[in-house]
Amino acid sequence: MQREPLLERLRTAPRWDVVVIGGGATGLGCAVDAAARGYSTLLLEAHDFAQGTSSRSTKLIHGGVRYLAQGRLGLVREALAERATLLATAPHLVYPLRFVVPVYRQWDRLVLAAGLTAYDWLAGRHGLGPSRLLSARETAAALPGLQPAGLVGGIACMDARFDDARLAIALMRTVFDLGGTAINYLPVTGLRHEGGRVAGVTARDGETGETFAIAARVVINATGVWSDEVRRLDDPSATRRLAPSQGAHVVLERRFLPGRDALLIPRTPDGRVLFVIPWQQHLLLGTTDTPRADCPLEPRPFAGEIDFILATAGRYLAQRPTRADVHSAFAGLRPLLGGAGGTAQLSREHAIDVSAAGLVTVAGGKWTTYRRMAEDVIDHAAGSAGLPPRPCPTARLALHGSPGAPGADGYGTDRAEIDRLPGATRRLHPAFTLSEAEVRHGARHEQAREVEDMLARRHRALFVDAPAAIEAAPAVAAILADELGWSARRTTESKEAFRRVAEGFL
Ligand SMILES: Cc1cc2nc3c(=O)[nH]c(=O)nc-3n(C[C@H](O)[C@H](O)[C@H](O)COP(=O)(O)OP(=O)(O)OC[C@H]3O[C@@H](n4cnc5c(N)ncnc54)[C@H](O)[C@@H]3O)c2cc1C
Repeated sequence: MQREPLLERLRTAPRWDVVVIGGGATGLGCAVDAAARGYSTLLLEAHDFAQGTSSRSTKLIHGGVRYLAQGRLGLVREALAERATLLATAPHLVYPLRFVVPVYRQWDRLVLAAGLTAYDWLAGRHGLGPSRLLSARETAAALPGLQPAGLVGGIACMDARFDDARLAIALMRTVFDLGGTAINYLPVTGLRHEGGRVAGVTARDGETGETFAIAARVVINATGVWSDEVRRLDDPSATRRLAPSQGAHVVLERRFLPGRDALLIPRTPDGRVLFVIPWQQHLLLGTTDTPRADCPLEPRPFAGEIDFILATAGRYLAQRPTRADVHSAFAGLRPLLGGAGGTAQLSREHAIDVSAAGLVTVAGGKWTTYRRMAEDVIDHAAGSAGLPPRPCPTARLALHGSPGAPGADGYGTDRAEIDRLPGATRRLHPAFTLSEAEVRHGARHEQAREVEDMLARRHRALFVDAPAAIEAAPAVAAILADELGWSARRTTESKEAFRRVAEGFL
């Protein structure tokens, strides 16, 4: 997938049926859906795919125990159905995971058991196995590393875990498999209007500065927390609809909770749920909910958020983690739909808005329901643009790389191709599995354009172990330079840019 031929498609295509702005979960889902229905489809991403919120989630494909507590049963049921769909269409990237809730008061055990029975009931035929009451001994055995003092028992329930950025890359590749086009580092800088209707976009190549005038029958704004800015390109008087909220995570060594199950802390001091999840040979802990008015591309966790996560988890763990134990810390911004009250109460559901000029904006939602959101969006967009109506086939569409059955390798069926590339057995750092061949594959087939693309999203080194990722950067830069024909200066720039970003994860 060379960049130049992709740009040539922009220069030569007379008009696209659907142009999607934004290459996160929402935009990629919309592009897959539109391409799967046979519409000519283009997606433009300002930075890298999933560089915004979609690589910074808690990595759960879930109904949401918290939404259950809020009584939002429709949202939970829909998400549980989508969980089943994703386990079937992307079994190389989404895995069932058992969660254990430790209980220290008998009464809590009854309340939680009732709630999780409702969760099982809402999952219906999509369930991954019934929730189960555990004795204190079973709970301690399931969660070695748990603070045993005062434990009266626990409850185990099933949900799913995934690799968010790799799922985004799989979606991007699915767009191409279906005949569509998706390009990164191509920000949309303006909307083109004809006769009062949105008729396309202008975009600028972030690498060369070349500008493109692109015609479209319908334009979809799927830019997450930045969607109000794009709405203002259409209508400068458009009012703000989003109330972004930051969520932080920290990553620790597995020794704090070395079992296979995840720990679910059902009630934090601020009324949230905290997860401690085995992920990528480490533990991922999160998250928080901090309202944030600005929307930086690289939000950094606030010191208070890290302390809060460590202190809350520390109350449940036999070894209390400290800041010195953190291997990586990262934050993401939730594109929540605005309203009164704290952001923990704001809607995780999505909203679709079609402006007077026909710009379709989608905001809100969560990774788990990206496919369902995309189906709604393309139904609306096709209707508003007068595209011939076609049914949505994505509920049964296997995503790129799917081996058709659960597999331990996130590259799925691409692995055979990677194994044929130079350096298939050369690991680039002892702390993680990334190989020379995976970097070559990233440059050739996954549009990796920077060191960061490789170490943060094609592979998750930065999210798992920031110091080790910094050490691996020179080797990654050298391979990308070879693949992409970089000069010495370009190589150094990419390496240095990565170091600056990685320092924010330390
Ligand atoms: C802390 C946290 C934890 C979460 N955990 C979970 C979870 O466990 N499970 C779950 O299901 N959901 C979770 N979510 C929610 C989920 O991650 C988000 O709903 C989802 O990733 C939003 O995707 P998006 O595509 O709307 O936004 P983004 O991923 O932010 O994508 C928007 C994209 O638009 C691009 N863009 C902006 N402006 C332009 C422009 N002018 N031109 C071109 N491109 C542009 C940006 O660069 C960006 O890549 C979590 C969210 C947060 C913040």
